[in-house]
Amino acid sequence: MIKIHNLEKSFGNNHVLNGVNIEITRGECVCVIGPSGSGKSTFLRCINLLEQPDAGEILINGKDILKPGLDLDAFRANLGMVFQHFNLFPNMTVKENIKLAPVRLQKWTKEEADKKAVELLKRVGLEDKADTYPNKLSGGQKQRVAIARALAMNPEVMLFDEPTSALDPEMVGEVLEVMRSLAKEGMTMIVVTHEMGFAKNVSNRVIFMDHGTIVEDRPPKELFEQPEHERTKSFLAKVL
Ligand code: ADP
Ligand code: MG
Repeated sequence: MIKIHNLEKSFGNNHVLNGVNIEITRGECVCVIGPSGSGKSTFLRCINLLEQPDAGEILINGKDILKPGLDLDAFRANLGMVFQHFNLFPNMTVKENIKLAPVRLQKWTKEEADKKAVELLKRVGLEDKADTYPNKLSGGQKQRVAIARALAMNPEVMLFDEPTSALDPEMVGEVLEVMRSLAKEGMTMIVVTHEMGFAKNVSNRVIFMDHGTIVEDRPPKELFEQPEHERTKSFLAKVL
């Protein structure tokens, strides 16, 4: 479903991605781990074109998204993105946050939008918060709303960039639980995370990135129990 070939990205003299190669099959949950500054966020941001790569190919369903003529709105609608900071619109209720994009892009009619928003809120366990404003929610609840909002466009792929890093520890579990259920339902997911438990127990593959390349790309059990590369070993020794 996603094929990335020799992806490169620099900021000035800083070569952040140095030839990233990966293929992801529909329904896989792939976790990306690695030290701070290794290019994980830039990698995700290139996939949904928040950053323009310098070189390489990104094929999604066989289509090269770096070729001219891409319908950017339709493309973005197909990739849900969840960030460390929730970026909810503070002046809108939870339901309005969720409805905004699908109504604007005519994915939902105004008539059906309320019902659909509440269905999504049910999926993340927050149906009673539909008319609440974000500042009345905990961090974990905000992040679950952000996930519901990303799901509203019915994307084929969900990208998560450290979705639990800004949360108080007691709220991490509720967000990971929603992500786990998404993975179980067969959503294709790429998750940058420091939650090694999630990577171990939920993902199909773990990718260890360092200095802008993929050092290791293996099933979680193998990567955690028998890392092949020194860099992976020393990283795991610090985080486990
Ligand atoms: P990670 O998510 O693994 O911590 P990032 O992809 O955020 O790493 O960053 C990798 C490197 O790219 C860092 O050195 C960072 O300073 C640099 N970088 C990221 N985004 C930008 C940007 N928009 N402009 C300049 N440098 C950037
Ligand atoms: Mg990052």
